[in-house]
Amino acid sequence: MRFKTLDDLGDITGKVVLVRVDLNLPMQDCAVTDLTRVHASAPTILELADKGAKVLLLAHFGRPKGERVSTQSLSMVVGAVQGVLGREVMFVPEIAGPVVAQSIGILRAGDIAILENTRFWKGEEKNDPELAKAIAANADLYVNDAFSAAHRAHATTEGLAHVLPAYAGRSMEAELKALEAALGNPARPVAAVVGGAKVSSKLDVLKHLVTQVDHLIIGGGMANTFLAARGIDVGKSLCEHDLAATAEEIMDAADASGCTVHLPYEVVVSKEFAANPPSLRVCNVHEVAADEMILDVGASAVEALADVLKTCRTLVWNGPMGAFETVPFDAATVALAKTAAALTREGSLVSVAGGGDTVSALNHAGVAGDFTYISTAGGAFLEWMEGRELPGVKALEG
Ligand code: ADP
Ligand code: MG
Repeated sequence: MRFKTLDDLGDITGKVVLVRVDLNLPMQDCAVTDLTRVHASAPTILELADKGAKVLLLAHFGRPKGERVSTQSLSMVVGAVQGVLGREVMFVPEIAGPVVAQSIGILRAGDIAILENTRFWKGEEKNDPELAKAIAANADLYVNDAFSAAHRAHATTEGLAHVLPAYAGRSMEAELKALEAALGNPARPVAAVVGGAKVSSKLDVLKHLVTQVDHLIIGGGMANTFLAARGIDVGKSLCEHDLAATAEEIMDAADASGCTVHLPYEVVVSKEFAANPPSLRVCNVHEVAADEMILDVGASAVEALADVLKTCRTLVWNGPMGAFETVPFDAATVALAKTAAALTREGSLVSVAGGGDTVSALNHAGVAGDFTYISTAGGAFLEWMEGRELPGVKALEG
């Protein structure tokens, strides 16, 4: 992977730099509820401002589908961004044209502005080269710091890289380096942990991983589909019986490429899905009753999985091992996450994890800070796990 970073910028004093960031912030009653995405891009924004650039932030917000929707104006996040950056931030209600040009005239070197929601313009999602050119006309350079939007070929995530000198921001750079270390050119053996609710949402992930990793650990609801495919009665468990043949194909593909698939042999079951249910018990996978559900991996099976991780140098993780939002079905996820965290701290494992629920599960386990890298990129992270080329990343390499 070859792309330019902020280290390759020359003197940018007074230069106008467009920075694509992720400001699609969760909001409740017009207030921003989580600032993670702003914190992620703050180093890039501040570095450019401190080097004397006029920094123009580009981002989308919600799905306004090419129309101006006042409740989806990026003006609503200006206060939150100012708070994180500790700097004044101007708001510009356009992304191209004379209003942007006038605003740039007012900005001094080192000033920061947020342009309007890019999805107010139809050309954004169509990746219209005319829109990219119009946006670029006011600027000198383009920095992409939004890995989370890099799986989309839109005008401000992909198109701009073709019309301006393009650079990866610090957050993009860190994400790409971590992903490269985990699956691009990893230290072996490599383990993948894949869990979560359904096989159907992660078929392409599983198909790709079996060709890349040495150990595939399958947990969560999706393990039930694999167990059922092997003729095990999973009772009332969440299970996609219609995917039995697909599950078998995945296991055959794993065999063919020397990847060992690990399924739980011991499980935590219950008749009802509730916290600490009275019917909770731990059993062998062959002993699940017709009216029981598998909700987590059993403790001794988790220990066996931990032993697998101890033999590995690299781990990539997506999806919790059980229904971790409800106690005690968080136990397997927490235990395995703690093992991965300890191995990473010791320096014997490179650990990369991603996925919405996975990130909350690792936070819940209190180990998110110990992983080598945690991706908050959701869709882009999964597409990368599917082995796909992300258009926003490819454009930076071009
Ligand atoms: P991510 O968002 O990290 O990609 P997913 O959305 O695929 O993860 O999966 C997370 C969900 O899977 C969680 O809500 C969790 O409760 C559910 N889950 C995990 N194991 C089971 C299980 N055995 N039965 C039912 N649901 C499960
Ligand atoms: Mg999810």
